[in-house]
Amino acid sequence: MPGSRTRFDFHAHTLLSDGAQSPTDMWSAAAQRGHRLLALTDHVALEDARPLLRRLQEEATAFEEGPLTTLVGVELSKVPPLRIAEAARRARRAGAEIVIVHGETLMEYVPPGTNHAALDAPEVDLLAHPGLLSERDAELAHRHGKVLELSGRRMHGLTNGIVAARAIAAGADLVVDSDAHHFEELIPSELARRIARGAGLRPQAVVDALEGAPKRLLKRCGKG
Ligand SMILES: [Zn+2]
Ligand SMILES: [Zn+2]
Repeated sequence: MPGSRTRFDFHAHTLLSDGAQSPTDMWSAAAQRGHRLLALTDHVALEDARPLLRRLQEEATAFEEGPLTTLVGVELSKVPPLRIAEAARRARRAGAEIVIVHGETLMEYVPPGTNHAALDAPEVDLLAHPGLLSERDAELAHRHGKVLELSGRRMHGLTNGIVAARAIAAGADLVVDSDAHHFEELIPSELARRIARGAGLRPQAVVDALEGAPKRLLKRCGKG
């Protein structure tokens, strides 16, 4: 029943970068699991994103009539902070419906300043796994209307508590993403709700992270 579909996931990967399955496999699994939306956001750096986006767009056409909303996008990863705004602009021109940035997770080295540059770049929609997000950057997210991510991915999620606290204090939007690299890693609604609660969100903030903020982001991406 389309009306009962409540799971929005703005971050996942396919074999077009380091995921395990095709876009069609990922979207089919999401549709079958009752998702409302799945964005596929494969990694790119400064290379031309057009071949990737073209392939995602072609496979997305299979889902046009179905209950699942698709978004095709990129996750800008390990781009020097000074070039993030330019890379985001180019990805948008190349057809990205959503542009996310691989934030300063504790899991691996990400150039310092990536969070700030992402939140300052006009064409970036969402900052993924921001790690030890500063108060200043949370305020920047709020001012610039950027969305911050609570990550369902192992290790990336270690700092969900501080991301949640600083986003709430600053009034910035939060969403819960899977960052799935395999369809079995797609996070169902109930687990997303627990991740939001586990990050310390109060009941009303949980509802906003699972429904309100995703709907606003979808609108911003032109599909709301
Ligand atoms: Zn990432
Ligand atoms: Zn990712």
